[in-house]
Amino acid sequence: MVKFDDSYTNSRVADLHTQEEERYVETMAPQLGFNYINLNGYTINPESLSAISESNAQKALVAPFEIKQKVLSIAAKTPSSPDTQALFEKLSKQYSLQVYMCSTASLEYAWKRYSDMTDSTAEKKGVFEIDADTIKDLSDKIKKIEDVLVILKQIRTANTPRRISETIELVFAGGLALGSSDIHIEPEAGAIRLRYRFDGVLHDIADLESYMHKRMMSRIKLLSGMKLNSHAEAQDGRFTFSAGYRDVEVRSSVIPGALGESVVMRLLDPSVSSFSMERVNLNPHIQAVLERQLKKPNGLIITTGPTGSGKTTALYAFLQEVHTEGVKIITIENPVEYKLEGIVQTQTGEHYTFGSGLRAILRQDPDIIMIGEIRDREVAETAIHAAQTGHLVFSTLHTNSAVAGFARLMDLGVDSRTLGNSINLIMGQRLIRLLCEDCKAGYAPNERDAKLIQFIMQNHPHPVPVPDPLLIYKPVGCEKCGQSGFKGRAGIFEGVVVDEAVEEAVISDPREHVILAAAKPQGIPTMIEDGIEKVIKGTTSMSELQRVIELPYQEAGLLNEGPEHINPETPQTSGDDEFLKHVV
Ligand SMILES: [Zn+2]
Repeated sequence: MVKFDDSYTNSRVADLHTQEEERYVETMAPQLGFNYINLNGYTINPESLSAISESNAQKALVAPFEIKQKVLSIAAKTPSSPDTQALFEKLSKQYSLQVYMCSTASLEYAWKRYSDMTDSTAEKKGVFEIDADTIKDLSDKIKKIEDVLVILKQIRTANTPRRISETIELVFAGGLALGSSDIHIEPEAGAIRLRYRFDGVLHDIADLESYMHKRMMSRIKLLSGMKLNSHAEAQDGRFTFSAGYRDVEVRSSVIPGALGESVVMRLLDPSVSSFSMERVNLNPHIQAVLERQLKKPNGLIITTGPTGSGKTTALYAFLQEVHTEGVKIITIENPVEYKLEGIVQTQTGEHYTFGSGLRAILRQDPDIIMIGEIRDREVAETAIHAAQTGHLVFSTLHTNSAVAGFARLMDLGVDSRTLGNSINLIMGQRLIRLLCEDCKAGYAPNERDAKLIQFIMQNHPHPVPVPDPLLIYKPVGCEKCGQSGFKGRAGIFEGVVVDEAVEEAVISDPREHVILAAAKPQGIPTMIEDGIEKVIKGTTSMSELQRVIELPYQEAGLLNEGPEHINPETPQTSGDDEFLKHVV
């Protein structure tokens, strides 16, 4: 006898109903002369909630969600109903109203925020604001880490009632001004540690006073739409603040700890969200290979690398490259990092996994699909099936090299025979910091490093001449680069095209060195070769390369490990690096 799981079926029906209503409202709103809004996942401005009481909002089927100056934005399920109209009339004496139409799900989502407000009665109105002008003024003043410390001292000395708000504003302004991708706030014994990640590296910024911790966390959690009264669970949230001339979206994550909660906030600065092949800056050998592969109508293109190697950024650039009128592109990501214009981007969730989402996407008749990451067999096999049935598919794998991608897919349970006729190209990549042209210093490398450079260049399929005597460069630090010695970043890349020889190796003997040997005639340099070329050309340093990838001293018969110890590359602050700032 077939047994149906009623609870599953019921929740599925409810899901479908919700989706259907959402689509219905979206279609109806413009016909009735209203703007449509979907509040699910929207960061409700807590101040707007105080304009209408919870019971009045529920009675009139409305939810306030934004307030700026005296303009109150309200979502309503039935804007023309008498109850709703009566409420609008009352409110319009005090505010100028902007009315939107929304679904029941949107209302329910927004109403939940009222309970957060009650939790936070201690927090008075006004503390939720991050003032756009303040952020802009502050960030204009900040050029290096020391500037953050100077302003922090001023805030401490002035000791105004807004001290905590001012500190939070400074934390955001400093993060933006220094080009950070993430802000880390961690309680420690006796202080709160503030760190920023920029140019891919975490930098200690300041110790904040311990007494602020609880109140800073409450504000950040309120902004993020998190539960205030829970201190023992991990929570995620997001919010947007304005920095004068642009809006910055923040994705925040809180985890509990022995000394209290820590928060990491990722800054998604839309000013860096244009992706292009030029900005990815591929070396000409892999660029040529990639251009050929991107023209193919079907097959799988995979980028590999650890977290922070820029692989999703590269995929976004590829999508922009293949995005033309008349092709349908759908992505499934976790989460959507940037909105790309003209591309349907979806995000995984409780009922929308990579596996189920991908199957749904295939029913949407796409030409090109981007899958955030291949993590399990189901996704791997669906991706391969899609690639074999006329779709160009992009995805990423978490491996250390391009060639390791084959083994990873086989570990997930994919049949080696299907890899050959579905994968077009596997790439590997890392991000390295580029030396500041204004202060880098030339030096003659020691014998060991010189020998390693020679050794690597001998194998390089397109070797660049190694000057004799060899002069390479190290970071120094100056005003222009904020004393870090580095300015900007670039990728180093490698790739394996799946041609007949590689396919044969993958099926018969998929050990890495065998596949590599089969791919050798393709003439694509490895990441190490690409990196050493950049060292010889003076665009990066030996120890920067060693920071992101292990150099083959041992293979070259050189016993000591690591490059010559040149001056410690602990940068103090970043330059105005706009390149590949947000990497995934
Ligand atoms: Zn410099």
